Amino acid sequence: MPSAKAVVLVYASLASAAGFSGASALQYTARAVALGPRPPGSEAHRKLQTYILSELRRFRCQVEQDAFTARTPLGPLPMKNIIARFPGASGRAVAITGHYDTKSMPGRTFVGANDGGSSTGFLLEMARTLSTRPRRHDVYLVWFDGEEALVQWSESDSLYGSRHLARRWSQDGTLRRLIALINVDMIGDRDLGLVREAFSTLWLREGIWQIAAELGYGRHFLNDVVEIEDDHLPFLRAGVPAVNLIDFDYGPGHSWWHTERDTLDKLSARSFQVVGDVILEWLRRLERENHSAHGGRQ
Ligand SMILES: [Zn+2]
Repeated sequence: MPSAKAVVLVYASLASAAGFSGASALQYTARAVALGPRPPGSEAHRKLQTYILSELRRFRCQVEQDAFTARTPLGPLPMKNIIARFPGASGRAVAITGHYDTKSMPGRTFVGANDGGSSTGFLLEMARTLSTRPRRHDVYLVWFDGEEALVQWSESDSLYGSRHLARRWSQDGTLRRLIALINVDMIGDRDLGLVREAFSTLWLREGIWQIAAELGYGRHFLNDVVEIEDDHLPFLRAGVPAVNLIDFDYGPGHSWWHTERDTLDKLSARSFQVVGDVILEWLRRLERENHSAHGGRQ
């Protein structure tokens, strides 16, 4: 850890850059990871909420704290999604999402640098980037709480925040305005290989893979088709086109996943850069297409 002054200087120079900065995303991730394990209900989890909210105050967006009580196998647990809305003028919207909680592992120091940390830092850098560019559609950035199971992964013990928000957005009409949702999870792995997640909406997933190839990032966007349950599912079930960008081969034989080896040294700024560049190019192209306020994809 360099001195505080050095961190501030590095941060200031990164933040003045025009586009998405992978180095800055990694810095944000480092700040989250430095808080230690961040399962819902923990002091570090509360500190991370405060940190995300304080950063968002600098980025000219509308911030909403979506608090709710999750019914978990361990009893009722207060949780909170954090939503940043960058308003556009078209009446339509896109959402870029990820989770900020880390898996509860009592007795172990699981800091979730990639799993929970990388999505948190990625979205903060996306917020900074979006605040510097014009928009056509609303862009929602969502930090989901409670992605991880508290006891054993099941339909009812997982995806607490995304299930809550999909229901809420269905009721208040936001869902109908969504053109697409892109979820990111474990995208910081220095050996980045994103799978073609099988539940994801085909046109959306393949469009992203095409852009990645055109940008010269094809080797990070694999041909492997794998089903992975994640925060995109509640939105898919509600009829929203959605894709999950996830690297599910973390360390030799996936052996760093959900272990104390999921630490910051396993991540690289370049991996964040690759994902950031691809999503922003996808957004640029989407803004050139014709999406009417009440129509679907045209
Ligand atoms: Zn996990």
